[in-house]
Amino acid sequence: MSSSRLIARLRRIGIVGLVAGGGITGLSVANAPPRPTPADREALAHGGLEAVPSRAEQLASLKLASTPESQLDMLVIGGGATGTATCLDAALRDLKVGLVERDDFSCGTSSRSTKLIHGGVRYLEKAFFKLDPGQLQLVFEALHERAIMLNQAPHLTNPLPTILPCYKIWEVPFYWIGLKAYDFVAFIGNGLLNMSKFVQASEALRLFPTLSKTSSGQKLRGSIVYYDGQMDDARFNISSALTAALYGAAVANHTEVVNLLRDENEKKIIGARCREVFTGEEFDVYAKVVVNATGPFTDSIRKMEDSNTNPMIVPSAGVHITLPSYYSAEGMGLIVPKTKDGRVVFMLPWLGSTIAGTTDSSTKITALPEPHEERWLSSWTHCRTISALKYAPRTFKALGLEFALWLWTRMLTSGRHRTSCVSTPCTCPRKIL
Ligand SMILES: Cc1cc2nc3c(=O)[nH]c(=O)nc-3n(C[C@H](O)[C@H](O)[C@H](O)COP(=O)(O)OP(=O)(O)OC[C@H]3O[C@@H](n4cnc5c(N)ncnc54)[C@H](O)[C@@H]3O)c2cc1C
Repeated sequence: MSSSRLIARLRRIGIVGLVAGGGITGLSVANAPPRPTPADREALAHGGLEAVPSRAEQLASLKLASTPESQLDMLVIGGGATGTATCLDAALRDLKVGLVERDDFSCGTSSRSTKLIHGGVRYLEKAFFKLDPGQLQLVFEALHERAIMLNQAPHLTNPLPTILPCYKIWEVPFYWIGLKAYDFVAFIGNGLLNMSKFVQASEALRLFPTLSKTSSGQKLRGSIVYYDGQMDDARFNISSALTAALYGAAVANHTEVVNLLRDENEKKIIGARCREVFTGEEFDVYAKVVVNATGPFTDSIRKMEDSNTNPMIVPSAGVHITLPSYYSAEGMGLIVPKTKDGRVVFMLPWLGSTIAGTTDSSTKITALPEPHEERWLSSWTHCRTISALKYAPRTFKALGLEFALWLWTRMLTSGRHRTSCVSTPCTCPRKIL
């Protein structure tokens, strides 16, 4: 895909919250930061981490774009998964790109996820029951991306078998057919990890010893084991930023956008005023396109452009808890596809512990949201009634020091601002650092 088509596509799908660019053709500019040649890149790619320019060099590179004449092709605001992936993709397409993150890379939502690389079984269900081809397309793309991530970063990802217990007789054919369809979609897109399979109740209890033999008075009828991907979300995010830097992007953490630069004649955004957080030094970065990838903070950047703009973010709190490892089976996750309040709950092995989540409740956007124990517990107890576990903590005290709780804000969009399927084809056969 050409650079101009990429930008046109970004505009269409709405990643570009703020578009500055008029002409997108003729992307080479005077006084541009030096671009690595293909030979440089080859050397860099083999050099690994040591070859990534230092933060000081990257800041210096960003500052080269402090005049309209030396503008970047693209400036990305936000160093979460969206921002770093956009930056990496743009760098691989030879765009001159910069990225600024006000805290550290992946400090926000992107290090507080459930760590799943999933194709979205739920979307498949919607595709069939609501006859929605858009949802099916989403699953296709997600499964395709899953395969790419597992291939590009085998050191940061792994396939994960997940058990889905069935306590009602109809659940067995229902979920079996659904997960076979999921396999089929993955297979067509060359992204099949392993075939899902039905296991008898006794085998399910052997595979996942904390599974309850009964739930809400119903006997365990068997389970379906299917495969999805698991990732180290924070490291994947940081690696994407570092890989982008290897390919010539200027990425700077602890650098906050404090305002936007506007061309009053043309009535368009032409860059951003940045502040280096440690020193307080402010500088301008000009760019043809400014990408707002600030996740839950999207509206704060939109308000810099137009203080009267209507908010588009509807924040929702998602809480996870880290439990001792014995709550899940080694190397296998558990999914409860529908809790009484309509959520999907996972219990997954993670770094020698178990993570369980998540909740979904309205919240306010704050820089460092904190979970409430009571709210999480009531929600947990609620899902516990069908959660198919033999035992579950009812107080955090019972867990001693063996737990951690984290919350982050899910970014849903309101009204006409619907989330779109955002997936750019991979142009890079190489690995993520
Ligand atoms: C509870 C929960 C569970 C999830 N589980 C999964 C999962 O299992 N699998 C999956 O694929 N997805 C999952 N997601 C979704 C996924 O985590 C998000 O889609 C993704 O992390 C969003 O990344 P982002 O870059 O858009 O936002 P963020 O990661 O929040 O990044 C935005 C960044 O912008 C920065 N920023 C804000 N303002 C400024 C400024 N003025 N200047 C500079 N920088 C700024 C912030 O510091 C932040 O780092 C989950 C989400 C939640 C909430």
